[in-house]
Amino acid sequence: MAIDAQRICDRCEALARHSEQPDGLTRVFLSPEQRAVSDLVRGWMGAAGMDTRIDAIGNVIGRYEGERPGLPCLMLGSHLDTVRDAGKYDGMLGVVAAIECVADLSARAVRLPFALEVIGFADEEGVRFSATLLGSRAVAGTFDPAWLDKCDAAGVAMRAAMQVSGLDPARVADAARRPDDVLAYVELHIEQGPVLEAEGLPVGVVTAISGGNRFNVEVVGMAGHAGTVPMGLRRDALAAAAECALAVERLARSMPEVVGTVGRIEALPGAINVIPGRVRFTLDARAPGDELREQAVAAMRDAFEAIAAHRDVTVTLAPIWEARTAACAPALQRQLTQAIHAEGVRVHHLPSGAGHDGMAIVAIAPIGMLFVRCTGGISHHPAEAVTVGDVGIAARVLARFIAQFVPPHR
Ligand SMILES: [Zn+2]
Repeated sequence: MAIDAQRICDRCEALARHSEQPDGLTRVFLSPEQRAVSDLVRGWMGAAGMDTRIDAIGNVIGRYEGERPGLPCLMLGSHLDTVRDAGKYDGMLGVVAAIECVADLSARAVRLPFALEVIGFADEEGVRFSATLLGSRAVAGTFDPAWLDKCDAAGVAMRAAMQVSGLDPARVADAARRPDDVLAYVELHIEQGPVLEAEGLPVGVVTAISGGNRFNVEVVGMAGHAGTVPMGLRRDALAAAAECALAVERLARSMPEVVGTVGRIEALPGAINVIPGRVRFTLDARAPGDELREQAVAAMRDAFEAIAAHRDVTVTLAPIWEARTAACAPALQRQLTQAIHAEGVRVHHLPSGAGHDGMAIVAIAPIGMLFVRCTGGISHHPAEAVTVGDVGIAARVLARFIAQFVPPHR
């Protein structure tokens, strides 16, 4: 096996040069920069012995046939779009590392009892049209045609942007794959968190992509003069909201692998000498199992109601988003575990608190994920970093996994 980790890192650097801004990395769906990286990636795929194409939503796909043409595939890859002012590895590393694994097989003229496909999803982050996973949803056949009318910040509809990119919006459904054609989808991705670094490990096996709930929460009390209303007679909405935020933290801490965050808060009327009468805040709760997540959210709701009753205020939760957990297939976790063992690395399992393309692809195929340590757990930031050594280990683990791959039963 000959995996060139330096080449993987150099290619991530090369992709990062295609950005809408000169002093940082931003590359969104259906942009000229995206078309440029699609060409670059297709070139690398072709050099690695793959047949390449752009599908109906703009995903780049390279296919390396198995022992005979037309076999179902093991799909590998990640996304090629970025957030604003992004790092160079979130997404791209998974695409480039998978190409490197195929290049190694191709150089040794190895054919497997299944085909390999490497996919570079055109949209995962959802920056441009405020809808995420557009590339993988098209592949999973769950792309809602109504999204074609979504507009970007400049008022350009997705439908029009597709035409500019040479794609036919009427044909998005053509990107959908049949479950029979995809044996599994496995993605290598940076962890985007600090767990592997704390464990001193270069890679880890993902157990599930956590589901989540988001709410807008409103607390209504009574505004009043900060000087004249005695403490015992107040109905302070901000003090109540603060207690709610602490309850979220306490409850999430008490339930293993649950995370809960109050990320935004606004107090009204928002004056130094007025008791806040109305407060709005957000709640984001995630867990790697749906039952656990529902329990956590119910416990948070109960805590809010108790706080509201005690303080004579009202608290209402308006749901704004919900996603179910996408479990990684146990058989794929076992096979990744064996590949990590074979590389001489201790195996650590962890959930993914961030969303990934597997959340969409799980609708048509079993999914697996391999996380790679990233410096300081930093992501969605220019300081995102990986080491060449870790990239080498991760890519070799992926190559071993591919060589030993057995399709999971469904
Ligand atoms: Zn990503």
